[in-house]
Amino acid sequence: MVSEPKLSILFTAEQIAAAVKRLAAEIRRDYHDKNPVLIAVLKGSFVFLADLVRELNLPLQIEFAQLSSYGHGKESAGKIRVVKDIQGDIKGRHVLVVEDIIDTGLTAKFFLEHLKKKQPASVKLCSLTDKPSRTQVKIDIDYLGMTVPDKFIVGYGIDWDERFRYLPDIRAIEDES
Ligand code: 5GP
Repeated sequence: MVSEPKLSILFTAEQIAAAVKRLAAEIRRDYHDKNPVLIAVLKGSFVFLADLVRELNLPLQIEFAQLSSYGHGKESAGKIRVVKDIQGDIKGRHVLVVEDIIDTGLTAKFFLEHLKKKQPASVKLCSLTDKPSRTQVKIDIDYLGMTVPDKFIVGYGIDWDERFRYLPDIRAIEDES
């Protein structure tokens, strides 16, 4: 049987909605005349992206990419690679990367460098959450939803081995017994 970990709510659905609204206002102010390309990093950011674009309510293009950084469980697999690259051409375009979590920063740093090789006009980063206590490489998060403590989080699209993505709020795994 799969064990049920103890989860505690860190951010309610209402708190997340307020953060998404604030981020959308900031992004709209900066991109309203830029027809940006939003690149969502799968899979964890799919719920955030869906809420963000509806709140943004402005002309934009969507692309998806998938990276591998963590294997199974909660430990990093160490090596980052592009599992699925974007399909569209971003040369000369204003790009906004949409992430769910910045933990060590290694994945985002790798991906931003990967995208810059495609010669976009600009690349900025929007992340729903950041864990500053875990930073290994400093990267600028241009639009940040909320800061989270050094805990493993799930919910609102974010999983633990494909579990808990369906939760409407963000929860921390407190133990695994
Ligand atoms: P980084 O390269 O910044 O260390 O890791 C980023 C990726 O690690 C995230 O996109 C996510 O896949 C995974 N990750 C880091 N912290 C957490 C967490 O608290 N919960 C979950 N579910 N994934 C995490």
